[in-house]
Amino acid sequence: MDSTNRLMEVANRVRNHSASSIHKREACPRGGSSPSSNPCLSCQNTPCCKRLPLEKVTVRARADLEDLREYLRHRWFEVGLKDDGTWMLFYQRPCRNLDLKTGLCTVHGTPQQPWTCKTYPSHHCWYQRVFAQEQSLEFIRFDARRIGLLMEMVSYDVDTGEIADVPSWEEMIQVFSRMPLDDPASRSPEGKSKQFSFPVPPPQTERHKELFTFRRQFPGVRIVEGETEWVTVVET
Ligand code: SF4
Ligand code: SF4
Repeated sequence: MDSTNRLMEVANRVRNHSASSIHKREACPRGGSSPSSNPCLSCQNTPCCKRLPLEKVTVRARADLEDLREYLRHRWFEVGLKDDGTWMLFYQRPCRNLDLKTGLCTVHGTPQQPWTCKTYPSHHCWYQRVFAQEQSLEFIRFDARRIGLLMEMVSYDVDTGEIADVPSWEEMIQVFSRMPLDDPASRSPEGKSKQFSFPVPPPQTERHKELFTFRRQFPGVRIVEGETEWVTVVET
C-alpha cells in the first residue's frame, strides 16, 4: 500500500465498538499470580491500563487533521496512526483499578475485572509493541505540534482541501522520532475543562456491552445509555 493510501484509506469512522485486538484485553495481566511466561509481568509501564481507545477516525482532508489537532489541545487526548492507515483517538489516563506504585491491577482475578481485560491476548500484545518504546515502526503517536508539522508536509487539492499526497511512512518515522511528545496531562486550554461525546449505536452483544464496563473503569469517563445510542462522555 502506498503512503497516500496509508493516510487516506481509513474506512468509515468506526466508533468504539470495534472488535479489534486493540480493544480486547485477553488474559490481561498485572495480577501477579500469572505464570512467569506472562509478558505482562515484565511489561514496562503497563500501557494497556493507561489509555482508553475511543474511536477510529477518518482522515481525508485538511479539515480532518485540524479536528485531530483540536482534540490534542485538550488534556489527555492522544492520537496515533497505524501503518495500515488507521487513525486512532485515545484518552490517556490510568484505569482507576491500576495500582500506580506496583503497576498491578487491583481487581485482577476478581469478578470486578472487566471481561475485556480478562480476555486480552497479552502474548500478542499490540500495546506493548507500540507504546513500550519511544518510537514504534508500526505506529506514530501525535501531539498538536506533530499534527501541525504533518499538515505542512501533506499536500492538498486546492479546490476541495482533500489530501492529495503525503510523505512516506519512513520519512514520517524519521521526522517525528526527533520530536518529543508533550505531556497530555499538562494541557489545559484557558484552564477550562470540557466534555467530549462519542456516540455509537446501543450494544447488540454481551461482548460489546462489556466494552462499556471496561470504559467505566477510567476516571473522567461516563456512559450515557440511550435508546438510539450509547454515548461515551470524557472530560478533559
Ligand atoms: S501492555 Fe500488554 S504486555 Fe503490558 S501489561 Fe498490558 S497486556 Fe500485558
Ligand atoms: S481493570 Fe484496569 S488496571 Fe485492571 S487490567 Fe483492566 S485496565 Fe488494567
